[in-house]
Amino acid sequence: MNSVFANLPTTIFDTMSRLAREHQAVNLGQGFPDDPGPLDVRRKAAEAVVDGWNQYPPMMGIPELRQAVASHYKRFQGLDLDPDSEIMVTSGATEALAGALMALIEPGDEVVLFQPMYDAYLPLVRRAGGVPRFVKLKPPHWRFTEADLAAAFSPKTKVVLFNNPLNPAGVVYGREDLELLASFCIRFDAVAVCDEVWEHVMFDGLRHQPLLALPGMRERTVKIGSAGKIFSLTGWKVGFVMAAPHLMKSLSKAHQFITFTTPPNLQAAVAYGLGKDDAYFTGMRANFQASRDRFVAGLGDLGFSVLTSSGSYFVNVDIAPLGESDDAAFCQRLVVDPGVAAIPVSAFYAEDAVTTVVRFCFAKKDATLDAALERLARLKKR
Ligand code: PMP
Ligand code: GLN
Repeated sequence: MNSVFANLPTTIFDTMSRLAREHQAVNLGQGFPDDPGPLDVRRKAAEAVVDGWNQYPPMMGIPELRQAVASHYKRFQGLDLDPDSEIMVTSGATEALAGALMALIEPGDEVVLFQPMYDAYLPLVRRAGGVPRFVKLKPPHWRFTEADLAAAFSPKTKVVLFNNPLNPAGVVYGREDLELLASFCIRFDAVAVCDEVWEHVMFDGLRHQPLLALPGMRERTVKIGSAGKIFSLTGWKVGFVMAAPHLMKSLSKAHQFITFTTPPNLQAAVAYGLGKDDAYFTGMRANFQASRDRFVAGLGDLGFSVLTSSGSYFVNVDIAPLGESDDAAFCQRLVVDPGVAAIPVSAFYAEDAVTTVVRFCFAKKDATLDAALERLARLKKR
């Protein structure tokens, strides 16, 4: 058995969703909306299954989708991407990440990772032979400094894996942070793999800035997006990878032997969706922002110490004021009684974890959020 995977626990997202089902808890753990998602996009997928092409689509993705991705990122992020040589469709951002790490890392290369990090990153880096170098981010601001980067980068750094907006922190990194990171990538000749799956889910008028657009980064950035997050259809697993042709050459070789392709009907529906008018994207953000505000206000009324969330489906609560110091144990109890599933943020650290922060998913109907708040009120009354 390969030692990276042999002893790994089941992912915390699956574990908490299973516990939520077992205990009939309100599931604010794993990040998925409880709304069925945009009907027109789902109809397109259904029509494409019935009337469309259901054999292997092209390895790089159907041309309509690659063109739609190029137009979409031109419209929203001012990027000029060539659909033929700089865009590839993958089966979700997860495949894009796995493929990028396999394609870019040689055994022994160092990879800079920011903790808290999405739980797939570290095993994938290790399996590719990469040696992790961690930057530790801490609440309440989760920001990094020049000294943090200086301690993590070295002449052996090959890749930096950067998630913006950051799951689970809900923080959005802006121009200054990106410039600092870019300066290190350039100085150490590293490639930035940017997990930007949350790029459309940002609040309070914030707009996503891709690292790829910064001076000197066009040739050394792999940008990754996910239709699952853009259309609130997390089960769809349609991802996109954007990179300069010299990087894409290797990335596509990894992709061709991981999944090779992605279901053509979903690709057709995503191509349609990416072209939807601005009102769809504004409305989607406004709905999630309203859910965030409702849940944050409710938590505040109950006296919980809530951290700022500027993006993603998540908001974090500091449990130290409750006298708690073990977020995993706290979440295990919470899911049983009063019956709310959440995610311990320590699961996103490989070492020296922050153990006093718990993540809740607010991408839910008002009734779901209210039911969770009612249960959390019971906890506070004890
Ligand atoms: N990266 C991050 C930061 C995520 O939060 C997620 C899932 N929510 C993914 C990657 C995986 O995306 P996909 O479902 O498209 O594989
Ligand atoms: N990205 C989702 C989250 O952060 C979970 C995805 C998964 O379950 N693999 O909750």
